[in-house]
Amino acid sequence: MNEENILIVRCGEVALKGMNKPYFERMLQDRIRRNLKEFKGTDVRRQEGLIFIRADKSLDINAIIKETSKVFGVASISKAVEAEPELNAIGAEAVKYMNGLIEERGVKTFKVEAKRADKNFPVKSPEIGRIIGAKVLIGCKILKVDVHNPDVLLHVDVRHDRAYIYEGKVAGFGGLPLGTNGKGMVLLSGGIDSPVAAWMMAKRGMLIEAVHFHSYPYTSPRAQQKVEELAGILASYCGRFKMHVINLLPIQEQIVANCPEEETTILVRRFMMRIAEKIAEKNDCMMLITGENLGQVASQTAEALVVTDASVSKPVMRPLIAMDKVDIMEKAKEIGTYEKSIEPYEDCCTVFLPKHPTTKPRLERILESESRLDCQALIDAAVESEEIIDIRG
Ligand code: ATP
Ligand code: MG
Repeated sequence: MNEENILIVRCGEVALKGMNKPYFERMLQDRIRRNLKEFKGTDVRRQEGLIFIRADKSLDINAIIKETSKVFGVASISKAVEAEPELNAIGAEAVKYMNGLIEERGVKTFKVEAKRADKNFPVKSPEIGRIIGAKVLIGCKILKVDVHNPDVLLHVDVRHDRAYIYEGKVAGFGGLPLGTNGKGMVLLSGGIDSPVAAWMMAKRGMLIEAVHFHSYPYTSPRAQQKVEELAGILASYCGRFKMHVINLLPIQEQIVANCPEEETTILVRRFMMRIAEKIAEKNDCMMLITGENLGQVASQTAEALVVTDASVSKPVMRPLIAMDKVDIMEKAKEIGTYEKSIEPYEDCCTVFLPKHPTTKPRLERILESESRLDCQALIDAAVESEEIIDIRG
């Protein structure tokens, strides 16, 4: 036994899904397998509400834990050792395990917490705890029991055909497995917000695809490169996805030439939304996702959001709408997009930025301005010119 490393993966909210539970568990198992496909020699299996990963000892177990923790739907992960479900065998493994921890970390105190998932096991949980605790005390002479503040809380989980021993857990992000909640099209800029917005929707099980707008040659190829790298970080959570890249410059030029300067930003935003919606439609995305946040900038006042929304009929998800910027930044740091997002490259929104953008646009006025443009032709041409980039984590 224990020729392999064993991980116990807890499923969080997936476990609450009632009748659909087997479906969610299967999706989760599938996603974990995909994340671990580089690690040849791992086995991922569901059993009694948990997922067990067995990995050859030659593989980097910490890297496997890290990859697994990025799978949405995973609540937590523990590295375990196993034993035959029999008290002497469990005791022997527990002693070995604790001796290892004494050597590694100089552990001095412990407490056993036992659980029997197998109710046919002849000894009840508290008694298992006492028996294993006694065996550890005999086997590890320097250890003492501390029930209030132990250095190690040693879990013993007795299941049908195996018992597992572990301590500590690595937190996952929770959420739901990717693919259990449709697909959304994120409008991905190089900023801090939109990658976080995409990540939050993906965490609820939504597959994502992205559209990015640039204004080449006003924006540089390096700026786009940055967005691709940002998308790559997202893909390490969301799986491989397509990014549709569009040059918005022809539309921006038309707007600047024909419409009031203070409306430029809101008009550009409405075009972005309509183009994104059209690409979403072609690619089976049922919703749009943006990083908009109430009141953050002129184009994100309540009035501006209403006018932006009126440009499309697909639902627009704005998961950051009520968050404070500091909290969005924290999240960006946590998921690893922040450092990339703050790299200083130009964005198409900052090209032709009006001096005094309107903060309270009125839809009738905006529609009147748009009537001076051949919107449909501009949108169609933009969609036609898309470049598709394959994004991998
Ligand atoms: P972000 O940090 O995500 O860029 P922001 O606070 O800078 O957001 P805006 O620039 O007004 O706000 O953009 C609002 C939203 O519009 C963004 O979150 C994103 O979803 C979308 N967006 C903005 N610029 C682009 C772009 N160049 N390509 C694709 N989507 C964009
Ligand atoms: Mg931006």
